[in-house]
Amino acid sequence: MFKSILVPIDLTNTDLAKPAVATAVLLSQTSNGTIRLLNVLHMTPVMLTEYVPADFDMLQRQSSQEALAIVAREVGIEPSRISSVVRQGNSVYHEILEESQAVDADLIVMASHRPAMKTYFLGSNAGYVVRYASCSVLVVRH
Ligand code: ADP
Repeated sequence: MFKSILVPIDLTNTDLAKPAVATAVLLSQTSNGTIRLLNVLHMTPVMLTEYVPADFDMLQRQSSQEALAIVAREVGIEPSRISSVVRQGNSVYHEILEESQAVDADLIVMASHRPAMKTYFLGSNAGYVVRYASCSVLVVRH
């Protein structure tokens, strides 16, 4: 049913990501679809650039790519059906929406913490993606 599934992953909270990845794998198998793992790295603020090494962004990107490659390997589906990408930007949900357009995703599967008063007022990445994505969104909660 779903041919192109995007799974945004916060690499600082992989425990939260696991059920979302497992759900995406299951759904992709019903239609032999593809999975795209995405991690968004925040841009280094301009005022900090003189305090970090020149290759800081490149090293961060490299370690995120390696971490996503490990996740991709561990899920155990054919390598041709899973790919990963690291994007850099100031807004996680904006990059998720951009990537969903880029891969023509028909489903975004993402984890979310339980709703709290904080997110009621401020919104969250999952909340923004649900509101603005043009494809279906499945929010996986523990
Ligand atoms: P919540 O939406 O539960 O308040 P977050 O907005 O931090 O919490 O994260 C929800 C989901 O947003 C994560 O499970 C993940 O799918 C996605 N997400 C958060 N941070 C990133 C990131 N840096 N890169 C990719 N996806 C992210």
